[in-house]
Amino acid sequence: MIVQKFGGTSVGKPSRMASILNIVSSSEQKLIVLSALSGVTNSLVAINELLHKGEKNEARQKIKELENHHIQFVDELFSGFPEQIDELKKIIASHAKYMHDFTLDMFTWNEEKAILAQGELLSTAIFFHYAKAKGHDVFFINALDFMRTDKDVEPDYYYIKHNLNKELDNLKNKQLVITQGYICRNVYGEIDNLRRGGSDYSASLIGAAIGASEIQIWTDIDGMHNNDPRVVAQTKPVRQISFDEAAELAYFGAKILHPSSIRPAQEYGIPVWLKNTLQPTDEGTLISASSDGNQIKAIAAKDGITAIKIKSGRMLLAYGFLRKVFEVFERYKTSIDMITTSEVAVSLTIDDTTHIKEIEQELKQYGLVEVEHNKSIICIVGDFLGESKGYAHKVFDALKEIPLRMISYGGSKNNISVLIESEFKKEALTALNRSIFHLN
Ligand code: ASP
Ligand code: MG
Repeated sequence: MIVQKFGGTSVGKPSRMASILNIVSSSEQKLIVLSALSGVTNSLVAINELLHKGEKNEARQKIKELENHHIQFVDELFSGFPEQIDELKKIIASHAKYMHDFTLDMFTWNEEKAILAQGELLSTAIFFHYAKAKGHDVFFINALDFMRTDKDVEPDYYYIKHNLNKELDNLKNKQLVITQGYICRNVYGEIDNLRRGGSDYSASLIGAAIGASEIQIWTDIDGMHNNDPRVVAQTKPVRQISFDEAAELAYFGAKILHPSSIRPAQEYGIPVWLKNTLQPTDEGTLISASSDGNQIKAIAAKDGITAIKIKSGRMLLAYGFLRKVFEVFERYKTSIDMITTSEVAVSLTIDDTTHIKEIEQELKQYGLVEVEHNKSIICIVGDFLGESKGYAHKVFDALKEIPLRMISYGGSKNNISVLIESEFKKEALTALNRSIFHLN
């Protein structure tokens, strides 16, 4: 079985949704995972914010707008199918009423999650009816019946595997099975989600649970690129990349794939294809266990980084110093991205500054603390260690005009990272693009 996931922009316009029916059509059985129509989850977030502020009329107005958006979508998609239009308008109205009811009394955390789930519930209902109207042998399963997180808010693999396969056992002869990305239930059985952008994660969890032959993630660009197309003029798609390399890139800013979504596929050895809905015959990027080693594959940048330096004479030859420093970050649930040490100081970076004041205060007991904002991590990904040589030279030669604040090499065999002032990001990405990929 193949898992195909389509993101918001792939189903964002009626014509796009119509065209993905060609992509999903084949003799092989497919499990289709859909995101909400593009922009819808953002609107749901906005509705939640209004309800939290008690601005009920504004929230109702936004719910109405969302209802109209889906009605217009359906009118256009199903032109020529009046019965289906009627049916779907009833479904859309019932979801709108469900949301509207939350504007009538106190607004709770559970209700917020229930509202966020409406986008995927609606998009899958629309696509299911459309595929059926077009004569496909299609079935629908609700992600809320099998996708679940555990007490640590991590996906409950065992539960997902057991329940999803139970659902699929009855559907052996169905050509297409449709379900929602992103949404799930939590350990208490309440509606929840896998966090923003979580549909990729759903697809990967589903692929792992059913032992899929492959997972395809369909977006509107032709796979993973060697550099950030928003910053440099010329980029090219990367044809093949290993799970480890892809994980580094996804984490360090390559917007194409949700970082957590690599793990389930990697653990169960299921190849992931990144494909382009607008150019379905393009090759795309294959992410798999194998790496065609010994080359720099791609570069990504992550902005909004804060660097923290702790300088202490007492650190000299001391053991337990790093543990104390790390424990401060652990207490404030703040994850560290990069770290470099010398005998008298340690520098590290974070991107979540929610607790920076408290962290700074606690670190002061260990030494002199300096905090600097507006940094960017430039992450160069490939297959480097072992017998390979010359890569660091290539990278630093390209960056010779740029002040480097931190350098990290050897943490994993797939990554060289440098920390720079964000104002030099464009220059750094362009210089690396020229000298490593011979692109502008
Ligand atoms: N619809 C959700 C979001 O916009 C999940 C997803 O698209 O992956 O975050
Ligand atoms: Mg209520």
